[in-house]
Amino acid sequence: MPRNANAFVFKHSRTLCEKHTAGGRGCGELPAPHCQETLPPRKTLLDKKGDLMKRSRPALIFQLLWTLIGLLYAPSAHAWGCKGHQTVAMLAEKHLTPPAKQMLLALLQDNPIDTHIRRFCGTAGLDDFADASTWADDFRSTPEGKPTAPWHFLDISLGATRSQVPAACGPDGCVTQAILDQLAILKDKTAPAPKRADALRFLIHFVGDLHQPLHTETNSDRGGNCVPVAYFRRKPSVKNNEYTPNLHHIWDTEILERQMQGADAAEYADTLDAKFGSSFAAWQQGGMQLEDWAWEGHQQAVSVGYGALSPKIAIEPNVPVNTCADNNNIGQRMLKKHIAVGVAYQAASGPLIDMRLAQAGIRLAMILNDAAK
Ligand SMILES: [Zn+2]
Repeated sequence: MPRNANAFVFKHSRTLCEKHTAGGRGCGELPAPHCQETLPPRKTLLDKKGDLMKRSRPALIFQLLWTLIGLLYAPSAHAWGCKGHQTVAMLAEKHLTPPAKQMLLALLQDNPIDTHIRRFCGTAGLDDFADASTWADDFRSTPEGKPTAPWHFLDISLGATRSQVPAACGPDGCVTQAILDQLAILKDKTAPAPKRADALRFLIHFVGDLHQPLHTETNSDRGGNCVPVAYFRRKPSVKNNEYTPNLHHIWDTEILERQMQGADAAEYADTLDAKFGSSFAAWQQGGMQLEDWAWEGHQQAVSVGYGALSPKIAIEPNVPVNTCADNNNIGQRMLKKHIAVGVAYQAASGPLIDMRLAQAGIRLAMILNDAAK
């Protein structure tokens, strides 16, 4: 999940289904027919050959430019994959009060998502909350949404202490600040309704992101994006200084999807509800504690995300990293470690990911129930 300006690097012209299997968000193990079902194939220039022949030269140039822009800003991997964000949303929805649910659903339905934005996770058959949960990742891949890219994470350096958390939020913003800002907009009944609907979509997404442990850490490795790992049988490969699989991405998608064993988001929300229901009151205690929740995740990233790796990774110097070629080519240095993730790492990280999704869902419900009052 690119976490900075590099989210917008040229992503070449892979098809959506190829992206699903080669480093995209979620749906990674779905067969091609499902990809086609949830993501109707766009007509390519070649498909449209007949149409293009009928067009004037300026129209053709415009079409080519538009296609190029589309490729430039094609969504790439971000945050929890489709299923993770959808599960958080579905769990939260189950715990909304009836008036809150009615008000929030009406806000989403009366102010629908711009149909020009490509929806990476598809929309077919999705509950409104589940659909809303992944919009922020699609939006940030548009030119208009580019400034929102830093709102999805909080780069707390490995080795930092709790007192350093507030300073980790940079001038371009971060996930904790974004939650505060969007919550204020949602609560402001004088704000334009479309803006409040987008604020709700941001909140549903960002509370999920905040609970992904690798969204609240960096080891000068773009939150683990520059740590190539072999995941079970899949070996890492590199293209344009991006590695697949990588540590960040398996936390977003692969570990969770293996854990879900084929369940859909609604089914998995029910599973988590039953598994963690007795902890919900404790997790909501003290109200909204964004920095504490970020610190929880950071510590889990230290102890399990990096701590359970073999071989171990040392703490890197805290330097700015825009691509995996930075920090003395950290991507290549990590690749040479031949880190392999298998049964033992899955056993350590899978239950933790379950817990973080459940925490995100129940805390999101608490925030939204309060905001809807
Ligand atoms: Zn995100």
